[in-house]
Amino acid sequence: MKADYDAVIVGAGPGGSSAAFSLASRGFRVLLLDKEVFPREKACGDGIAPRAVHSLRVLGVEEELAGRFRRTAGMRFYATRGGVTEVRYPMGSRFPHHGYVVPRRELDSILLRRAREAGAEVWEGCRVADLMPWKDGNVQGVVAEREGERREVSASYIVGADGASSLVGRKLGLLRHDPRYVGVSVRCYMQGVREVSDFLEIYPEDAISPACGWIFPLDRETANVGVGFMLHAREKRRMNLNRVLEDFCTRTRYAAEKLGGARPLAKPRSALLRVGMGGAVPRLANVVLVGDAASMVNPMSGEGITYALESGRWAAEALASALRRGDPEELALYPLTLKRYYGRYFRLGTMAIRYGNNPWFINPLLLATSRMPPLGDKMGRFLMNCRRGAFPL
Ligand SMILES: Cc1cc2nc3c(=O)[nH]c(=O)nc-3n(C[C@H](O)[C@H](O)[C@H](O)COP(=O)(O)OP(=O)(O)OC[C@H]3O[C@@H](n4cnc5c(N)ncnc54)[C@H](O)[C@@H]3O)c2cc1C
Repeated sequence: MKADYDAVIVGAGPGGSSAAFSLASRGFRVLLLDKEVFPREKACGDGIAPRAVHSLRVLGVEEELAGRFRRTAGMRFYATRGGVTEVRYPMGSRFPHHGYVVPRRELDSILLRRAREAGAEVWEGCRVADLMPWKDGNVQGVVAEREGERREVSASYIVGADGASSLVGRKLGLLRHDPRYVGVSVRCYMQGVREVSDFLEIYPEDAISPACGWIFPLDRETANVGVGFMLHAREKRRMNLNRVLEDFCTRTRYAAEKLGGARPLAKPRSALLRVGMGGAVPRLANVVLVGDAASMVNPMSGEGITYALESGRWAAEALASALRRGDPEELALYPLTLKRYYGRYFRLGTMAIRYGNNPWFINPLLLATSRMPPLGDKMGRFLMNCRRGAFPL
């Protein structure tokens, strides 16, 4: 019997919408489901790196962002005893020479609309509660709940783009709870921030170590302010996310000066991050995971939008090939692509983050980069994964 859809994509964040856009543009029958109704909030720093801007161009949305949202010119690092390091874009000649800060409420709605325009059918407010049983070595589809009604939707392929706590990943035993690959972060929109700049400001300050804080600009006096740390750090030191955020705003050398008179615009929002590709297995039979579900967050920067957009696109390419040839084994291409372009980098990043946020490491490093700008540029390019050969353009 023919399946209802060629592919069902669970989750309409950047990963799901990118996959849906790529597949639907190729003429396949795609259903994109999300439990939320858009626009919806998502805990995020909202920072979009130059590499992500490239993907947004592929999706045809950059024009819409330009002029409407804050453009960023680079990154600044503030270390309590290491001074200030400024790294300006470009990060590499192949990437756009700027980034953005776009609240996820807006960004994800724009991406979802693009997926719809490309021909994907979208069901909002529809939670996937389970997977349909296996048949002939494949998962037959998903069990979706909308407005109290439960129904089975069959599909030749399933994409789990449902974030760090992915139901698709959990049901298939694809998620690993290894504290080396799991982090937590909280963000708060704050008004009355002093000297909001055009830079993504990153604060690995002693007072919150081994956590790291950020202030990302939204407008002249509003910013996305947050902190994050890896779970293995919390297990050792019993850290509390909200207390770390409070310390960041009041006890740090550089950030507290800027945040002293600021007030929160709403309650802080927190979420899990699954990083470095070690927190999940990306493919099983006719199912693939993308973005956070597949543990695609950069372990050093906490940046995941780039990797959600790219992995969504690469998963769609593998699915398109499998659909054309009628052979699910074509999906093997997807984990190979991830390994080729991210494998070594994410492994290095996972090792680096074990030391990266400790004062004895970060202060001397940032002292050196603040005095030697070419070294700072190298560090920035590495953090943003914009090294030569890091991307199949
Ligand atoms: C506090 C914080 C700050 C961050 N800052 C940055 C940053 O500045 N820059 C950056 O690049 N990255 C940042 N990240 C990481 C970034 O937010 C993620 O990497 C990115 O959102 C991943 O996109 P995704 O599409 O994989 O998943 P998500 O954006 O999490 O989307 C998953 C979607 O799936 C839906 N869903 C979940 N379960 C179901 C279900 N059962 N049925 C139907 N739908 C479901 C959800 O409603 C959601 O819409 C940050 C993360 C956090 C937590």
